[in-house]
Amino acid sequence: MIIVLKPDVEQNKREQLIDWLGTLGVGVHTSVGEYQTVLGLIGDTAGVDMDLIDSLDIVETVKRVSEPFKRANRKFHPEDTVVEVGDVRVGSGHFCMIAGPCSVESEDQIVAIAKAVKAAGANMLRGGAFKPRTSPYDFQGLKADGLELLRIARQETGLPIVSEIMNAADLPLFEDIDVLQVGARNMQNFDLLKELGTTKKPILLKRGLANTLRELLMSAEYIMSNGNENVILCERGIRTFGDYFRNTLDLSAVPMLHELSHLPVVVDPSHATGIARMVAPMAVAATAAGADGLLIEVHNDPPHALCDGAQSIRPEEYEKLAAKVRAVREVAVC
Ligand code: PEP
Ligand code: MN
Repeated sequence: MIIVLKPDVEQNKREQLIDWLGTLGVGVHTSVGEYQTVLGLIGDTAGVDMDLIDSLDIVETVKRVSEPFKRANRKFHPEDTVVEVGDVRVGSGHFCMIAGPCSVESEDQIVAIAKAVKAAGANMLRGGAFKPRTSPYDFQGLKADGLELLRIARQETGLPIVSEIMNAADLPLFEDIDVLQVGARNMQNFDLLKELGTTKKPILLKRGLANTLRELLMSAEYIMSNGNENVILCERGIRTFGDYFRNTLDLSAVPMLHELSHLPVVVDPSHATGIARMVAPMAVAATAAGADGLLIEVHNDPPHALCDGAQSIRPEEYEKLAAKVRAVREVAVC
């Protein structure tokens, strides 16, 4: 971090600042020029509050020269991370196809969808049991019973299961769930992230509705700095002024996240667009942009789905989508 002081700052004020910076556990390199003084902070500046320094009246500008995320940073870990979920690998050329309904609704529903998506090429099954709904009057999920139905579907198909956890207190219920999803609304639930960091579970961390890539990576850092390196990032669309879509799929996040971080990046075109017929084109585009996998909502009866029917595709549509994705991967992956 570099701090440029205002011209003609009094020496005692400058020294007070340098002394205080020293107490933050970083080294301070001072360069006194004819008009201005520049302080270079050396060492781990992740805990230094840049905005606080910027607000001091003797400071002209502050600039970070290294990112505050360390464990997620590609600079400190040049090779791609591969997250292992049973036999399925994600990242560094290993592509995952996660598919299933928004919510688990019944045994027949989840088992039928699991079999259909597996036949189409999916290698993981998703299904929400704890649902973060905007309205408290909407279906909230089958909770522990939903997780039990996912286990049955796993047993029937062999597909690892992915399900959203909203509260750290529910962790014991998720003990044998293969991937724990942190939803967009919980991306900055720091207590939940810290708790997930104490497990070794693969975590699918979704980008918040209005969060930057840096914030997404800092949330990954919460999990990783508590000991869990098994993080998969997920771009699922952000809020913009786009009027025809539920969200705007920020596809440029894919190559940028790959540049900034070694963690795998999965794209969810279902929540990003909110429209079933938009899912396949954006899945293909995400694949070409270099995504390490796709998370797609598939339902056997979308008009009667208890959650997110409008964006859910049918198994036969998923089959076509999967074939297109495979074709794109053969010719045009960034
Ligand atoms: C979901 O995957 O069903 C979900 C609620 O996603 P998001 O958190 O991205 O809205
Ligand atoms: Mn959903």
